[in-house]
Amino acid sequence: MPRSSKNFQMGENRRPEEMLPTERPTEIEKTPEKEKAFATEEMKIEVTNVCQFGRCRFCSPCFRPTVKEAGTEEFLRKMEGNLDTYLRGCGRKIILTGGGEPIDAPKKLFGTLELISKKLEKLGVNLDLLAVYSNGVRLLEPVSEGSDKTYVDELLKHGVRDLNISVHGLTNKERSEIAGEYMGNIDFDTLIPRIVEKGMRIMTRTTLAKGFIDSVDTVERFTKWMSGLGVKMMYFSDLFYVPPEERGAETVPGSQETLEWTDKHRIDFDKLVNDVKKSKDFEFVAEYARHREQGRTFEFKHMVSGIKVLFGDLTIGDEPVEAPTYAYVKPDGSMDTHNNARDLAKREYVPLKTVAKYRPGRPEREFQQIVQLRRPPKKSPSSE
Ligand code: SF4
Repeated sequence: MPRSSKNFQMGENRRPEEMLPTERPTEIEKTPEKEKAFATEEMKIEVTNVCQFGRCRFCSPCFRPTVKEAGTEEFLRKMEGNLDTYLRGCGRKIILTGGGEPIDAPKKLFGTLELISKKLEKLGVNLDLLAVYSNGVRLLEPVSEGSDKTYVDELLKHGVRDLNISVHGLTNKERSEIAGEYMGNIDFDTLIPRIVEKGMRIMTRTTLAKGFIDSVDTVERFTKWMSGLGVKMMYFSDLFYVPPEERGAETVPGSQETLEWTDKHRIDFDKLVNDVKKSKDFEFVAEYARHREQGRTFEFKHMVSGIKVLFGDLTIGDEPVEAPTYAYVKPDGSMDTHNNARDLAKREYVPLKTVAKYRPGRPEREFQQIVQLRRPPKKSPSSE
């Protein structure tokens, strides 16, 4: 059920369904009362839907609605306006993320970073965070043919100091099984220290899944390994949860195979967090809500290395339809209503066969049309 229906427009009592299409608050407005609207919000920018080398079995962009991707020029033009709104609304944290793999769309990625830099200079402000999320596959490849500069060098040149790399298992075999051969073959023992040496701070993102990282023992081993390589922060993420009653063509129109994989491999997140609380290797620091209470984050300190270790879960698909999204730019450049409000959005969504084209190398069967949405299990296996 929607958790709130009051926060979409100041002084407005009508629901969006009761308004004319032209009156609906689909774009985040540039009004004085929104001046500090983004002071506590991160801006997330999905530069592309394309992910050439990731084959993650749990990839939520494969089953969620996919917005039609704009070309570089159109994307940057629209994104610039939204960037301006965000920075003038006191937002100071920007994350370039996926959707897809940012490095697979270099013109959009570096074009966005250039716009950010120009806009900061013009407004005379600094960011508290500028981070890029990556699947790690091409980070140390040349940024263009024959160049001696890598993608990491180019990111550093554009002011990025924080890189978030996906690492979803302890061994190459595990990582290949959950994320495919390209991500599975990455030699993190070499990659991470080389990137750290260049001056980048590394955070890892790890999906918790049965048979992979799924217990306090595997979390401890993984944390010891990564902290030893110079990782500064770690984030363990529960598989996204879409409540059964919210599942349908609006919320999960994409790959049902991927969605089913998440249902089958979801761990008992609360039990794991409680086990970590009891472990002598970690000290519990705090719990806080994330994404407007759609999820929770548990913060710990790793006793040996002192680094921050986070655990998060997130429910998606039941956000109130009328609530404007947090500052989330999609690959069409828009910062519109969230994806559950497709009928209210000005965005254009693409059919499954186009989603498949954004994902070369994934098996075609993953993108076959939905025959029937199957009923998933309840969220916590142990609480049944
Ligand atoms: S890296 Fe994995 S989760 Fe990320 S977009 Fe690619 S396939 Fe999906």
